[in-house]
Amino acid sequence: MSDILKMAERYRNSLISAHNNVEQLAQDISETILEAYRNHSAPMSFRNFYPNYSDLLGPPIRVIKPPVLGHAEINNGVAPPLGSTWEEFNSFRINSPWGIPRSYVIDGLIRTDIHAGIDYRANVGTRVNSVLDEIVIEVKFTNVFGNQIRIQHPHGYHSLYAHLSNMYVTQRQRVVAGQHIANSGNTGDSTGPHLHFGWDGNADGVFSHIDPADDPFDLFSRVYNIH
Ligand SMILES: [Zn+2]
Repeated sequence: MSDILKMAERYRNSLISAHNNVEQLAQDISETILEAYRNHSAPMSFRNFYPNYSDLLGPPIRVIKPPVLGHAEINNGVAPPLGSTWEEFNSFRINSPWGIPRSYVIDGLIRTDIHAGIDYRANVGTRVNSVLDEIVIEVKFTNVFGNQIRIQHPHGYHSLYAHLSNMYVTQRQRVVAGQHIANSGNTGDSTGPHLHFGWDGNADGVFSHIDPADDPFDLFSRVYNIH
């Protein structure tokens, strides 16, 4: 009996050790990718998983009259999603890059997913702009993304701005690149004030974690000439 217990103990210890190794490895990889994003070097990602976002109905959203603040800077036709200039945009810290697995705690529950956008840490009330021209196709509240705006751009590209506080546009409204469409916030499933920016760069209507065209850096590379 004691031999069996010893074997069980050894087995248990080796499982714990393997588990710790995997956790350490996942953390190292996440940090390396995060660092790459912060340096605006070529993005890397895990592309082997799809999300199951539930678009649950929430309370009615309120759209208010926008302040008059002019347009954000445009570089190669693209405006920064956050802030007034590309330099200011670069100063926002990335909390969670596109395409990497992460775990976080909401309402005491551990959630795990792979990220189909980029989270930029920003104080509630920070200016949010449409990155390109065209038409607002969605202004709504969901439990996951809180107050959110989805815009359709030329060639069928879509952009998504989530966890917003104030929203300044309505469905079917025409917008131009750099237009102040909302302020960032902390609504929906959010662990702190930030902007979630999603990009559908292949016009299939899906903000994917695995499609390289849906990496927001695919859009920003037009400005930065990265890749
Ligand atoms: Zn996000």
